[in-house]
Amino acid sequence: MKKLLMFPILLIAACGQEEPVVCHNDSGFLITNVQVIDGSGSPAVPGSVRITDGLIAEVGELTACEAETVVDGGGQTLAPGFIDTHSHADSLLSEQPDAIAAVSQGITTVIVGQDGGSSYPLADFYAEFEENPATINIASYIGHNTLRSEVMGEDFKRVATDEEVAVMAEMLASELESGALGLATGLEYEPGIHSETSEVLTLAEIAATAGGRYISHIRSEDRWFEDAIDEIILIGRETGMPVQISHMKLAMTRLWGGAAATLEKLDSARADGVQITADIYPYEFWQSTMMVLLPERDYTDRAAIEEVLDQIAPADGIWMTRFEPNPDYVGKSLPEIAGLMETDVISAFTNLAEAAERWREEHGRSAEMIIATSMKDSDIEKLLLWPAMNICTDGGLNDLHPRGAGSFPRVLGHFARDKKLMSVETAVHKMSGLTAEHMGLSDRGLIREGMIADLVLFNPDTVIDRATPEQPELLSDGINSVWVSGELVYQQGATTEARPGKIIRRN
Ligand SMILES: [Zn+2]
Repeated sequence: MKKLLMFPILLIAACGQEEPVVCHNDSGFLITNVQVIDGSGSPAVPGSVRITDGLIAEVGELTACEAETVVDGGGQTLAPGFIDTHSHADSLLSEQPDAIAAVSQGITTVIVGQDGGSSYPLADFYAEFEENPATINIASYIGHNTLRSEVMGEDFKRVATDEEVAVMAEMLASELESGALGLATGLEYEPGIHSETSEVLTLAEIAATAGGRYISHIRSEDRWFEDAIDEIILIGRETGMPVQISHMKLAMTRLWGGAAATLEKLDSARADGVQITADIYPYEFWQSTMMVLLPERDYTDRAAIEEVLDQIAPADGIWMTRFEPNPDYVGKSLPEIAGLMETDVISAFTNLAEAAERWREEHGRSAEMIIATSMKDSDIEKLLLWPAMNICTDGGLNDLHPRGAGSFPRVLGHFARDKKLMSVETAVHKMSGLTAEHMGLSDRGLIREGMIADLVLFNPDTVIDRATPEQPELLSDGINSVWVSGELVYQQGATTEARPGKIIRRN
């Protein structure tokens, strides 16, 4: 800490005079000729940034020190490395430590342990990562569904007893001690879908007491959306800790056009002192299992499927992105598959879900993934603009949804620049400074003296996503260079050999 404070003073003393410059920066470099967007939302300022020992040492109009390595930014934009508050990168990170799908978007930190599912115990995950680090930094929540599975096993389709909740609470406390950011729930998924609010609240109190926070794939993004929003507001109010809605959606026809009303409700909770925030990925379609569409999990219920196709996810907006029982269906829409089966879309849905469930029971893991279109662009735009909304991907490193490789450049290029929805400074703020606040990270997310030198250099005129549902792996354009702790990890389409990623523990 002392060293961190010393640097700016030393360098100012050496470089700040009119006399010949005799400063040294042997353990760093200078990025010159850039528009600095510092992540706070403030306007871009032309200048340079000096990096020393992996930290940002100076920002401003700087002259190179003697023998200092200089990186000419070519007039492009230098921003804090982006932070992804809802990432599934953890599942493949040990196999793909270059994390190119993330780092090629300018992402330098991913927050994992989402939707109620995390590694357990986190200490093992941290140790594994530290032995085999990645390009990017990683922080994790501890998942409610993970704890519930550990405690209740296969007998989870019921309310937990007080004793079971007490065991979960004990495990949670110990994981928070290890450095988990807080508690993550996934209340639309098993086994959390069977929990009562009181169970979640008891656990949330433990996280609050430890100084943690709460993040949630809420109980419903469609049929019971309003109740689900009320539940997370209640948790924020009762515990007093920050709560964040994951990948916010208005995913049902009756909710379309309702973004303003929903945000009004959230704003009034905020005005009452509830620290509620949210994240979003910029696509009208999501990716999950088929069964998430059927809360009763009954794929033989034709009326329920009809309601889904009518009000939540139209058949021609559903594509199969993974289907273990018959990979031939991958890339095909539900009507196309129904055609191959020579049946109607409802029966096709039932057949697919039944085959997927059988396969899952046999193999012990999920058999299928679908992309389903259920949002309106106009709602997405309103949600993106909400001042307490930050950007996430909800993506994995090999995602079948384009969000995994395209989310951040899509906001910068498509929404901010082309649609002029917001300034590039606001977009960057929603990817860095605001995000760091939402996750409680105090030493990242801003270009300021003393902050960790996680940085992205991009061309605001050309930055754009290229990933599509057909080619979800396509990397974005316009992200020029990415540094993590002052080490170059990505440049013009390729990762370097550097693996400076760190585990970020709750401080
Ligand atoms: Zn989710």
